[in-house]
Amino acid sequence: MKRFEELLHKGYAQSFEISTVLFHEKTEHQDLVIFETPTFGRVMALDNIVQVTTRDEYVYHEMMTHVPLFAKGDATDVLIIGGGDGGILREVLRHGSVKNATMVELDRSVVDLSVKHLPEISAGAFDDPRTDLIITDGVKFVAETDKRFDVIIVDSTDPVGPGEVLFTESFYADCHRCLKDGGVLVTQNGVPFFQGDEVTNTYRRMGKSFSDNGFYTAVVPTYVGGFMTLGWGTDDAGLRDIDAEVLRTRFQQANIKTRYYTPDLHKAAFALPQFILDLMN
Ligand code: SAM
Repeated sequence: MKRFEELLHKGYAQSFEISTVLFHEKTEHQDLVIFETPTFGRVMALDNIVQVTTRDEYVYHEMMTHVPLFAKGDATDVLIIGGGDGGILREVLRHGSVKNATMVELDRSVVDLSVKHLPEISAGAFDDPRTDLIITDGVKFVAETDKRFDVIIVDSTDPVGPGEVLFTESFYADCHRCLKDGGVLVTQNGVPFFQGDEVTNTYRRMGKSFSDNGFYTAVVPTYVGGFMTLGWGTDDAGLRDIDAEVLRTRFQQANIKTRYYTPDLHKAAFALPQFILDLMN
Protein backbone atom coordinates (compact mmCIF):
# COMPACT_ATOMS: atom_id res chain seq x y z
CA MET A 1 0.00 0.00 0.00
CA LYS A 2 1.41 3.35 -1.11
CA ARG A 3 1.57 6.23 1.38
CA PHE A 4 2.19 10.00 1.17
CA GLU A 5 4.39 11.32 3.97
CA GLU A 6 4.50 15.05 4.72
CA LEU A 7 7.89 15.85 6.21
CA LEU A 8 7.26 19.57 6.82
CA HIS A 9 8.12 19.41 10.53
CA LYS A 10 11.51 18.18 11.74
CA GLY A 11 11.33 14.70 13.26
CA TYR A 12 7.58 14.41 12.72
CA ALA A 13 5.42 13.32 9.77
CA GLN A 14 1.78 12.95 8.87
CA SER A 15 1.10 10.04 6.57
CA PHE A 16 -1.83 9.34 4.21
CA GLU A 17 -2.78 6.02 2.70
CA ILE A 18 -3.00 6.56 -1.08
CA SER A 19 -5.84 4.85 -2.96
CA THR A 20 -4.95 6.42 -6.35
CA VAL A 21 -2.51 9.04 -7.58
CA LEU A 22 -4.56 11.29 -9.88
CA PHE A 23 -1.74 13.60 -11.00
CA HIS A 24 1.91 14.10 -10.18
CA GLU A 25 4.23 16.46 -12.06
CA LYS A 26 6.71 19.26 -11.58
CA THR A 27 5.01 22.46 -12.77
CA GLU A 28 6.97 25.56 -13.78
CA HIS A 29 7.14 26.48 -10.08
CA GLN A 30 6.62 23.48 -7.78
CA ASP A 31 6.09 19.74 -7.45
CA LEU A 32 2.32 19.11 -7.59
CA VAL A 33 0.59 15.89 -6.58
CA ILE A 34 -3.12 15.14 -6.24
CA PHE A 35 -4.17 11.79 -4.79
CA GLU A 36 -7.27 9.98 -3.55
CA THR A 37 -7.30 8.69 0.05
CA PRO A 38 -9.76 6.50 2.02
CA THR A 39 -9.87 8.97 4.93
CA PHE A 40 -9.44 12.56 3.68
CA GLY A 41 -11.00 12.42 0.23
CA ARG A 42 -8.75 13.98 -2.39
CA VAL A 43 -5.55 15.69 -1.27
CA MET A 44 -3.30 18.18 -3.08
CA ALA A 45 0.31 18.74 -1.98
CA LEU A 46 2.85 21.23 -3.30
CA ASP A 47 6.54 20.51 -2.76
CA ASN A 48 5.51 17.68 -0.40
CA ILE A 49 3.41 19.96 1.83
CA VAL A 50 -0.34 19.34 2.18
CA GLN A 51 -2.28 22.28 0.73
CA VAL A 52 -5.88 21.13 0.78
CA THR A 53 -8.06 18.05 1.31
CA THR A 54 -11.67 17.75 0.21
CA ARG A 55 -12.59 16.47 3.68
CA ASP A 56 -11.42 19.39 5.86
CA GLU A 57 -10.94 22.33 3.42
CA TYR A 58 -14.05 24.11 4.68
CA VAL A 59 -12.42 24.94 8.04
CA TYR A 60 -9.61 27.06 6.65
CA HIS A 61 -11.54 28.51 3.69
CA GLU A 62 -14.42 29.67 5.91
CA MET A 63 -12.20 31.20 8.61
CA MET A 64 -9.89 32.99 6.15
CA THR A 65 -12.86 34.68 4.45
CA HIS A 66 -15.91 35.09 6.72
CA VAL A 67 -13.90 36.59 9.62
CA PRO A 68 -12.58 39.60 7.63
CA LEU A 69 -15.73 39.89 5.47
CA PHE A 70 -18.25 39.81 8.33
CA ALA A 71 -15.96 42.11 10.36
CA LYS A 72 -16.07 44.61 7.47
CA GLY A 73 -19.72 43.97 6.59
CA ASP A 74 -19.65 45.98 3.36
CA ALA A 75 -16.55 44.83 1.43
CA THR A 76 -16.94 45.24 -2.33
CA ASP A 77 -13.37 44.68 -3.60
CA VAL A 78 -11.35 41.68 -2.44
CA LEU A 79 -7.81 40.62 -3.42
CA ILE A 80 -6.79 36.97 -3.02
CA ILE A 81 -3.10 36.15 -3.36
CA GLY A 82 -2.36 32.47 -3.99
CA GLY A 83 -5.38 30.28 -3.34
CA GLY A 84 -4.96 28.27 -6.56
CA ASP A 85 -7.42 25.57 -5.49
CA GLY A 86 -10.25 28.14 -5.52
CA GLY A 87 -11.62 27.47 -2.01
CA ILE A 88 -11.01 31.01 -0.76
CA LEU A 89 -12.51 32.46 -3.97
CA ARG A 90 -15.61 30.27 -3.55
CA GLU A 91 -16.26 31.50 -0.02
CA VAL A 92 -15.52 35.18 -0.84
CA LEU A 93 -18.07 35.14 -3.66
CA ARG A 94 -20.81 33.93 -1.29
CA HIS A 95 -20.91 37.49 0.12
CA GLY A 96 -23.46 39.59 -1.78
CA SER A 97 -21.55 42.81 -1.02
CA VAL A 98 -18.54 41.59 -3.08
CA LYS A 99 -18.52 43.17 -6.54
CA ASN A 100 -14.98 42.14 -7.59
CA ALA A 101 -12.68 39.31 -6.49
CA THR A 102 -9.19 39.68 -7.97
CA MET A 103 -7.16 36.50 -7.58
CA VAL A 104 -3.39 36.63 -8.16
CA GLU A 105 -1.96 33.12 -8.44
CA LEU A 106 1.61 32.32 -9.46
CA ASP A 107 1.04 28.87 -10.94
CA ARG A 108 -1.62 28.34 -13.62
CA SER A 109 -1.22 24.57 -13.31
CA VAL A 110 -2.53 24.64 -9.72
CA VAL A 111 -5.74 26.32 -10.91
CA ASP A 112 -6.22 24.06 -13.93
CA LEU A 113 -5.51 20.82 -12.08
CA SER A 114 -7.63 21.83 -9.08
CA VAL A 115 -10.58 22.56 -11.37
CA LYS A 116 -10.04 19.18 -13.08
CA HIS A 117 -9.38 16.94 -10.06
CA LEU A 118 -10.85 18.95 -7.12
CA PRO A 119 -13.86 20.68 -8.76
CA GLU A 120 -15.91 20.77 -5.56
CA ILE A 121 -13.39 23.13 -3.96
CA SER A 122 -13.70 25.99 -6.45
CA ALA A 123 -17.33 24.96 -7.24
CA GLY A 124 -17.46 27.14 -10.36
CA ALA A 125 -15.96 30.24 -8.66
CA PHE A 126 -13.47 30.81 -11.50
CA ASP A 127 -16.42 31.27 -13.90
CA ASP A 128 -18.17 33.87 -11.73
CA PRO A 129 -18.36 37.21 -13.61
CA ARG A 130 -16.99 38.97 -10.50
CA THR A 131 -13.75 36.95 -10.67
CA ASP A 132 -10.56 38.41 -12.19
CA LEU A 133 -7.85 35.70 -12.29
CA ILE A 134 -4.33 37.05 -12.84
CA ILE A 135 -1.40 34.65 -13.19
CA THR A 136 1.67 36.38 -11.76
CA ASP A 137 3.76 36.65 -8.59
CA GLY A 138 1.74 38.21 -5.76
CA VAL A 139 4.75 40.29 -4.73
CA LYS A 140 4.92 41.90 -8.18
CA PHE A 141 1.17 42.57 -8.25
CA VAL A 142 0.95 44.43 -4.93
CA ALA A 143 4.10 46.41 -5.76
CA GLU A 144 2.63 47.64 -9.07
CA THR A 145 -1.19 47.72 -8.95
CA ASP A 146 -3.13 50.96 -8.62
CA LYS A 147 -6.27 49.05 -7.56
CA ARG A 148 -7.46 49.34 -3.96
CA PHE A 149 -9.17 46.67 -1.88
CA ASP A 150 -11.33 46.40 1.24
CA VAL A 151 -9.90 42.96 2.13
CA ILE A 152 -6.67 41.20 1.07
CA ILE A 153 -6.42 37.46 1.74
CA VAL A 154 -3.02 35.80 1.33
CA ASP A 155 -3.65 32.09 0.86
CA SER A 156 -0.02 31.19 0.26
CA THR A 157 2.10 28.11 0.58
CA ASP A 158 4.51 28.05 3.52
CA PRO A 159 7.48 30.42 3.61
CA VAL A 160 9.65 27.99 1.64
CA GLY A 161 10.04 28.14 -2.14
CA PRO A 162 7.75 30.49 -4.13
CA GLY A 163 5.68 31.39 -1.07
CA GLU A 164 8.61 32.78 0.92
CA VAL A 165 8.31 36.27 -0.61
CA LEU A 166 4.76 36.54 0.76
CA PHE A 167 6.04 36.70 4.35
CA THR A 168 8.32 39.76 4.04
CA GLU A 169 8.11 43.24 5.56
CA SER A 170 8.09 44.87 2.10
CA PHE A 171 5.26 42.63 0.93
CA TYR A 172 3.15 43.58 3.96
CA ALA A 173 3.96 47.27 3.32
CA ASP A 174 2.74 46.93 -0.27
CA CYS A 175 -0.42 45.16 0.92
CA HIS A 176 -1.00 48.09 3.29
CA ARG A 177 -0.65 50.47 0.34
CA CYS A 178 -3.23 48.46 -1.67
CA LEU A 179 -5.86 48.55 1.07
CA LYS A 180 -8.60 51.20 1.18
CA ASP A 181 -8.84 53.15 4.46
CA GLY A 182 -10.10 50.77 7.14
CA GLY A 183 -9.21 47.73 5.05
CA VAL A 184 -7.87 44.46 6.48
CA LEU A 185 -5.18 41.96 5.50
CA VAL A 186 -5.41 38.29 6.57
CA THR A 187 -2.68 35.74 5.90
CA GLN A 188 -1.96 32.03 6.17
CA ASN A 189 0.54 31.98 9.03
CA GLY A 190 1.31 28.35 9.86
CA VAL A 191 0.93 26.20 12.95
CA PRO A 192 2.74 27.90 15.85
CA PHE A 193 3.26 24.65 17.79
CA PHE A 194 5.77 23.74 15.08
CA GLN A 195 6.34 27.07 13.27
CA GLY A 196 6.58 29.55 16.17
CA ASP A 197 9.08 31.71 14.31
CA GLU A 198 6.41 32.50 11.72
CA VAL A 199 4.31 34.16 14.46
CA THR A 200 7.27 36.12 15.80
CA ASN A 201 8.46 37.21 12.36
CA THR A 202 5.00 38.10 10.96
CA TYR A 203 4.04 40.03 14.11
CA ARG A 204 7.19 42.17 13.85
CA ARG A 205 7.13 42.60 10.05
CA MET A 206 3.38 43.33 9.75
CA GLY A 207 3.58 45.67 12.77
CA LYS A 208 5.88 47.98 10.76
CA SER A 209 2.96 48.84 8.41
CA PHE A 210 -0.25 48.25 10.37
CA SER A 211 -1.27 50.02 13.59
CA ASP A 212 -3.29 46.99 14.72
CA ASN A 213 -1.93 43.55 13.89
CA GLY A 214 -2.03 40.12 15.45
CA PHE A 215 -3.61 36.74 14.84
CA TYR A 216 -6.73 34.69 15.15
CA THR A 217 -6.90 30.88 15.10
CA ALA A 218 -8.56 27.90 13.48
CA VAL A 219 -7.98 24.17 13.88
CA VAL A 220 -7.44 22.42 10.55
CA PRO A 221 -6.93 18.64 11.00
CA THR A 222 -4.44 18.28 8.14
CA TYR A 223 -2.40 21.37 9.07
CA VAL A 224 -1.04 19.25 11.91
CA GLY A 225 -0.06 20.62 15.32
CA GLY A 226 -3.21 22.12 16.80
CA PHE A 227 -4.06 25.80 16.39
CA MET A 228 -3.25 27.42 13.04
CA THR A 229 -2.58 31.16 13.24
CA LEU A 230 -4.14 33.45 10.65
CA GLY A 231 -2.41 36.84 10.41
CA TRP A 232 -4.54 39.98 10.85
CA GLY A 233 -3.42 43.51 9.92
CA THR A 234 -5.44 46.74 9.79
CA ASP A 235 -5.39 50.39 10.86
CA ASP A 236 -8.94 50.07 12.23
CA ALA A 237 -8.53 48.47 15.68
CA GLY A 238 -12.31 48.21 16.03
CA LEU A 239 -12.47 45.60 13.28
CA ARG A 240 -11.12 42.82 15.53
CA ASP A 241 -13.79 43.47 18.14
CA ILE A 242 -17.08 43.83 16.27
CA ASP A 243 -20.07 43.41 18.59
CA ALA A 244 -21.30 39.78 18.63
CA GLU A 245 -24.88 40.90 17.91
CA VAL A 246 -23.73 42.80 14.81
CA LEU A 247 -21.86 39.71 13.57
CA ARG A 248 -24.92 37.54 14.20
CA THR A 249 -27.15 39.94 12.26
CA ARG A 250 -24.71 40.15 9.33
CA PHE A 251 -24.35 36.35 9.29
CA GLN A 252 -28.13 35.88 9.32
CA GLN A 253 -28.71 38.47 6.57
CA ALA A 254 -25.96 36.96 4.39
CA ASN A 255 -27.77 33.62 4.61
CA ILE A 256 -24.51 31.68 4.14
CA LYS A 257 -24.56 28.07 5.33
CA THR A 258 -21.26 27.17 6.97
CA ARG A 259 -19.76 24.02 8.49
CA TYR A 260 -17.16 25.65 10.77
CA TYR A 261 -17.61 29.46 10.98
CA THR A 262 -20.10 30.90 13.47
CA PRO A 263 -20.29 34.49 14.74
CA ASP A 264 -19.46 33.35 18.29
CA LEU A 265 -16.46 31.35 17.06
CA HIS A 266 -15.39 34.46 15.09
CA LYS A 267 -15.18 36.41 18.34
CA ALA A 268 -13.51 33.56 20.26
CA ALA A 269 -10.87 33.01 17.54
CA PHE A 270 -9.10 36.23 18.56
CA ALA A 271 -8.53 34.93 22.11
CA LEU A 272 -5.02 33.47 21.86
CA PRO A 273 -3.34 30.78 24.03
CA GLN A 274 -0.48 32.07 26.19
CA PHE A 275 2.20 30.25 24.15
CA ILE A 276 1.13 32.20 21.05
CA LEU A 277 1.03 35.50 22.97
CA ASP A 278 4.55 34.71 24.20
CA LEU A 279 5.69 34.29 20.57
CA MET A 280 4.48 37.86 19.90
CA ASN A 281 6.88 39.40 22.43
N1 SAM B 1 -4.43 26.68 2.10
C1 SAM B 1 -3.05 26.28 1.78
C2 SAM B 1 -2.16 26.47 2.99
O1 SAM B 1 -2.67 27.01 3.99
O2 SAM B 1 -1.01 26.05 2.94
C3 SAM B 1 -2.56 27.05 0.59
C4 SAM B 1 -3.29 26.62 -0.62
S1 SAM B 1 -2.97 27.35 -2.14
C5 SAM B 1 -2.79 25.91 -3.07
C6 SAM B 1 -1.34 28.06 -2.06
C7 SAM B 1 -1.07 28.75 -3.37
O3 SAM B 1 -0.08 29.78 -3.24
C8 SAM B 1 -0.56 27.82 -4.49
O4 SAM B 1 -1.52 27.76 -5.52
C9 SAM B 1 0.75 28.48 -4.97
O5 SAM B 1 0.96 28.34 -6.35
C10 SAM B 1 0.49 29.92 -4.55
N2 SAM B 1 1.69 30.77 -4.44
C11 SAM B 1 2.89 30.45 -3.88
N3 SAM B 1 3.74 31.49 -3.98
C12 SAM B 1 3.06 32.48 -4.63
C13 SAM B 1 3.41 33.81 -5.03
N4 SAM B 1 4.63 34.31 -4.78
N5 SAM B 1 2.47 34.57 -5.65
C14 SAM B 1 1.22 34.05 -5.90
N6 SAM B 1 0.83 32.80 -5.55
C15 SAM B 1 1.76 32.03 -4.92
